[in-house]
Amino acid sequence: MSKRELLDVIAAEVVVCRKCGLWKTRKNAVPGEGNPNSQIMLIGEAPGYWEDVKGKPFVGAAGNFLDTLLSEANLSRQNVFIGNILKCRPPQNREPQPNEIKTCTPYLKRQIQTIQPKIIVTLGSYSTSYIFSNAKIPFNGISQAHGEFHKTSILGMRVTVFPTFHPAASLYSARYKEQLIHDFRTLKHELAQEGLI
Ligand code: URA
Ligand code: SF4
Repeated sequence: MSKRELLDVIAAEVVVCRKCGLWKTRKNAVPGEGNPNSQIMLIGEAPGYWEDVKGKPFVGAAGNFLDTLLSEANLSRQNVFIGNILKCRPPQNREPQPNEIKTCTPYLKRQIQTIQPKIIVTLGSYSTSYIFSNAKIPFNGISQAHGEFHKTSILGMRVTVFPTFHPAASLYSARYKEQLIHDFRTLKHELAQEGLI
């Protein structure tokens, strides 16, 4: 099967999944989307209000800002794949719970194994903490971790992990907004050096 077909199989399982309690309050699950052959994967936290309505990742206010950030790095939605730690919206956008993360992340794992990205950009502390723990990198909070490249191995694959803040942080803090823009410029240089853009 092609990467596209394998991702479609995962997405078909996600949209009917009832493995944790979040299926009860979702309108739509959000499996993730983008270019199956991309070398670059972005991982967010969980769907919010508009993602739940539309079944697509990052389509609300944070998503608008993510588009700006992607263009800072000479990227667009057409040449990345965007996924989330949780595929269903937690009620009132509350934080993901450990049991939900444990139950849902096998889907993300399969997406990563299918895409085999060269670079994983983790957006925010939940996504960074999950990927760092797979890579056995100690995680001391996103403020410390953001903006640095880690050449490491996860799930038996060599990959570069680049953590940054969650784009939603830009909506309430000008400082996070600036740091996000700065981090995506740093990312652009690395992508150019690696011949990925
Ligand atoms: N925030 C996320 O982490 N993911 C989305 O898909 C939307 C907002
Ligand atoms: Fe299934 Fe994940 Fe949705 Fe829970 S959040 S119901 S595990 S797809």
